[in-house]
Amino acid sequence: MDEATNAPFISTGCCIAGGGPAGLVLGYLLARSGIPVTVLEKHADFLRDFRGDTIHPSTLRALSELALLDDFLKLPHQQAGHVQAEVAGGIFNVASFGHLDPRWNFVAFMPQWDFLNFLAERASVFPHFRLLMQTAVVSLIEENGWVAGVHAIGPKGNIDIRAQLVIGCDGRHSTVRDACGLSPKQLGAPMDVLWFSLSRQESDGVDPVGKFEAGRVFIRINRGVQWQCGYVIAKGSLESIHAAGLDAFRASVAEASPVLADRVDEIIDWDYVKLLSVAVDRLERWHKPGVLLIGDAAHTMSPVGGVGINLAIQDAIAASNILSDPLRRGLVDESDLARVQKRREWPTRVTQKMQIIAQNNVIRPVLSGQSMQPPIFLRILNAIPWLQRIPAWMIGTGVRPEHVWTQELPPV
Ligand SMILES: Cc1cc2nc3c(=O)[nH]c(=O)nc-3n(C[C@H](O)[C@H](O)[C@H](O)COP(=O)(O)OP(=O)(O)OC[C@H]3O[C@@H](n4cnc5c(N)ncnc54)[C@H](O)[C@@H]3O)c2cc1C
Repeated sequence: MDEATNAPFISTGCCIAGGGPAGLVLGYLLARSGIPVTVLEKHADFLRDFRGDTIHPSTLRALSELALLDDFLKLPHQQAGHVQAEVAGGIFNVASFGHLDPRWNFVAFMPQWDFLNFLAERASVFPHFRLLMQTAVVSLIEENGWVAGVHAIGPKGNIDIRAQLVIGCDGRHSTVRDACGLSPKQLGAPMDVLWFSLSRQESDGVDPVGKFEAGRVFIRINRGVQWQCGYVIAKGSLESIHAAGLDAFRASVAEASPVLADRVDEIIDWDYVKLLSVAVDRLERWHKPGVLLIGDAAHTMSPVGGVGINLAIQDAIAASNILSDPLRRGLVDESDLARVQKRREWPTRVTQKMQIIAQNNVIRPVLSGQSMQPPIFLRILNAIPWLQRIPAWMIGTGVRPEHVWTQELPPV
C-alpha cells in the first residue's frame, strides 16, 4: 500500500502512459535493455479502427535492426511501393520507394491493433516488461519537485505506479501533459476527415489513391477486404454535411470514387462515419523533472503524408537511445530529458512545416472549391521519376530517421 494514498502500488524503473505505437515501441526497447518498465493502457484491447495503419520504411528498418521484421511481415498486410494522387482526372506518381533497400522499400498497411499486439507479444518475453491493460493514468505523484510516478485506475480500482521516470505516450489528448500543466501551441489545420470503410473487390485495383478535385479530397487505402476511406472536409463543415443528408454524402462518395458507387449504401447511417478532428500542435517544452512527453502527446501531426506513427516511433527510439543508460544507472537527470526533445524537436518542426505548406497550398484551395489544375511541381515529379525520391524520403524515411543503438542487456 502507498502510505500517502492508501492505494496498492508497484515500483518500476520507467512508467509509460499509453500503449500506442510510441509507448509500446519504447516499452519494448527499454525492457530489451534490461530496464524494468510498466506500460499502462487505458483500453482493454488495441482494437480501435481508423487509426494510422501505415508502417513506413524507417520503422521497417528499425524492426529489421531488432530482428523482428521477418515475423512482422508474416502478419497480413498490404505493401505500397509508391504513392499516387489523382488530380483533375489525371493520375500522378508522387513518391516512389523503389530506390530504398529492398527489405523496406515500401509502406506496409496493417491494422494498428495487429501491429500493437505484435509488439506487446514480443515485449512480453523480456522479464522486466509489464503491460497493464484497462489501466488509465489519472494524475501524477509529485514529491519534492520531482514526478515520482502516477496515480492510475485499473480493473480492480486505484493503483499507484512509482517510477524513476514517467514517459507520457498517451496521445493527442494526453492526461500526463495536462497534469504537467503543459499545453501545446496550436499550428492550425483547415480540414477535418470523415473516415469509413467500404468493401473491396479485387477488380477495384490495389493502389492507395488520394483524389483532389474542386471542393473535395477523397482518400482510399487498401485494407485487404475493405477500403479505408477518408473524405476530407473543411474544418467545422460537418453540420452542413449532415444537413445536406446521407444520400447527398453517398452520392458525393460515388462521384469521388465511381468504382465504389455500387456499395455506398454500406454507409448505413452517420454513426458509420467517424470524424477525425485534425489538429497540428507542438509543445514548447517536452519535459519537467521526472516526466517526458513524446509522440502525439508532444506533437500532434496533420494526416498529410500519414507520418504520425512514424514520428511517434522515431521519438521512442531516440528516447530509448538517450535514456537507457541513465535509467540503468538510476541517474536520470532533467538534462537527459532535454536531450530527447533536442534530438526530436527539429524533425518534428520540419515535418509539421511541410504539412502546413501542403495544407495551405493544396488542401485549403481545393476545399474552398477552386478549380483544380495539377500544380506544376506534380507534373515535374511525374515526368522525372527520380525526383519522386524526395517526397518518398519525406514520407517514408523522415528527416532524421533513428537507428536502434541500444543492446539487449540482462535485467538491472
Ligand atoms: C483517424 C486517424 C487516422 C490516422 N492515420 C494515420 C496514418 O495513416 N499514418 C500515420 O502514420 N498516422 C496516422 N494517424 C496518426 C497516428 O495514429 C498517430 O500519430 C500515432 O498513433 C501517435 O502514436 P502515439 O503512440 O503517440 O499516440 P496514440 O496512438 O494516440 O496512442 C496513445 C495511447 O495512449 C492511450 N491512453 C490515452 N490516455 C491514457 C491514459 N490516461 N492512461 C493510459 N493510456 C492512455 C490510448 O488509449 C492510446 O492507446 C492517424 C490518426 C487518426 C486519429
